Amino acid sequence: MNGRVRDAVIVGGGPIGCAAAIALANAGLDVVVVEAHAGDQRAPDARTLALSWNSRLVLQRLHAWPANLRATAIDAIHISHRGRFGRAELSAADVQLPALGYVLRHADVHGALREKVLAMPVEFREGFTVEDIEIGDDLAEIKGTDSSGKQRILSRLVAVADGGAAVSKSLATEIRDHDYEQAAVVGLVRSDRPHRQRAYERFTPTGPIAFLPSSDEFAFVWSCKPERAPSLLTMNDDLFLKELQLAFGDRAGRFVGLRQRASFPLALRVMQERSSTRLVLLGNAAQSLHPIAGQGFNLGLRDVWDFAEVIRSHDRTDVGDHSITTRYRKQRRIDRAGGITFTDTLAKMFSTDFAPLALGRGLGLALLDILPPAKRQIMHHMIFGVGN
Ligand SMILES: Cc1cc2nc3c(=O)[nH]c(=O)nc-3n(C[C@H](O)[C@H](O)[C@H](O)COP(=O)(O)OP(=O)(O)OC[C@H]3O[C@@H](n4cnc5c(N)ncnc54)[C@H](O)[C@@H]3O)c2cc1C
Repeated sequence: MNGRVRDAVIVGGGPIGCAAAIALANAGLDVVVVEAHAGDQRAPDARTLALSWNSRLVLQRLHAWPANLRATAIDAIHISHRGRFGRAELSAADVQLPALGYVLRHADVHGALREKVLAMPVEFREGFTVEDIEIGDDLAEIKGTDSSGKQRILSRLVAVADGGAAVSKSLATEIRDHDYEQAAVVGLVRSDRPHRQRAYERFTPTGPIAFLPSSDEFAFVWSCKPERAPSLLTMNDDLFLKELQLAFGDRAGRFVGLRQRASFPLALRVMQERSSTRLVLLGNAAQSLHPIAGQGFNLGLRDVWDFAEVIRSHDRTDVGDHSITTRYRKQRRIDRAGGITFTDTLAKMFSTDFAPLALGRGLGLALLDILPPAKRQIMHHMIFGVGN
């Protein structure tokens, strides 16, 4: 049994847990990260992430954007309805930025963050599964198992970044839960036309489809009925490409190649910590969103950045003190609520083919396109968050 008391234990060494480890260690804390998977056990994640310009700045400040990181700039986003009127084009020039954001493989973002943690004076205990956490008045006790058996760590603060798994569920209350009754089928597709750094968001009768420029391919996120996902994953490539082309149309060219299909269930879940002391939830542990606007990781990274800023600006005698955790929650309230509402509204509005709503959406898109101030406002929220 180890009686040493740490400043912060981070539960989960996924991308958000790693980002938190770097930010908190940079703020001067003694940090331990515990991650259930051993380093070489993790299956590569098939997701591709659209990161905002702001997320790039945060990752650069965390020194987790190495020069060789594979990232494709997004210069413009084309939003349209398949077979209906209404379209809008958002471009980096509208907000006077070099790019709206970047497209990266989830595994590459995570890899860069993990490498950085491993190079820092942070204890990274991979292969350690947390089973129970007791939040006491003065300390938190983290109990788990690793290859040597039962372990326990004492800490002033626990930051849970377990992606919304059992630990966060045991320590938090669910305040919103909505099953979109959709699954996301993701993969990489090759087109006969170059993407020219343009992303597409298309609303189709079968659900929204996002196309993101990724190296010389497109990464796609196809939201569909969950019962359709298994057949989309198992049908042969030619048939899948035909189905995708039929659903998306030919706006991005003719699809000629396909790889790395996978699927993910889609739901909205918002959690709130049960203890006002010694505990914070970060990233997907705090909020899991529909990927329609590519906000989940971006929002989680802002959680991390703001939390480290709150810690920096406080007396750090007890980093788990409720004055710190409460101030953090207050500071994140508007941005979190904004990101959740924005994503949820889009997911619901653009997943129905109900004629009056479809007409309203078309009008909304057409108006957005001709109202530069509204467009800039929305883009600012998507890039920097709400209230920032
Ligand atoms: C299809 C799809 C597309 C997306 N696209 C985008 C996008 O374009 N842009 C964007 O910003 N976001 C996007 N997202 C959201 C983004 O992927 C997530 O927000 C992000 O990956 C969450 O990271 P995380 O570190 O919070 O959670 P996770 O990646 O789930 O990491 C949690 C970690 O905790 C560990 N863990 C769990 N339980 C325990 C335990 N008991 N003990 C120890 N360790 C534990 C796990 O092993 C894991 O490593 C998308 C999501 C989906 C599904």
